Amino acid sequence: MRILLVEDERKVASFIARTLRENAYAVDVADTGEKALELGRDVSYDAILLDVRLPGMSGIEVCRELRQRGVEAPVMMLTARTLVEQRVEGLDAGADDYLTKPFVLAEFLARVRALVRRGFSWIAIAGVPLAARKSFP
Ligand code: CA
Repeated sequence: MRILLVEDERKVASFIARTLRENAYAVDVADTGEKALELGRDVSYDAILLDVRLPGMSGIEVCRELRQRGVEAPVMMLTARTLVEQRVEGLDAGADDYLTKPFVLAEFLARVRALVRRGFSWIAIAGVPLAARKSFP
């Protein structure tokens, strides 16, 4: 399982990355939306965890851009915002789920597991190998 974590706050990023690695995920960390788009283009991820508040492009813009480029990996937005409008905006931009920070670790890991499963059930439904996913309509 390979996960892309997009988070600009160093401490938060290293904490989340360490937690995921302890749970047997491979993790790449991007600290800007621009880096996330580069990695999303080059690597096929099982899930993408995307902070909303990033320097430069916002997480919502990154999510929209990933979807426009045909990246189908399930996306969970990480947000400190409690406004319903922000969550709606994230989901409309192509996110599959969101989690409000600060979050309880057990819930975070459960949601990551659900997110990864969703990616796999999508493959099973589509009946196409992982490598072909990006070109599937
Ligand atoms: Ca942030």
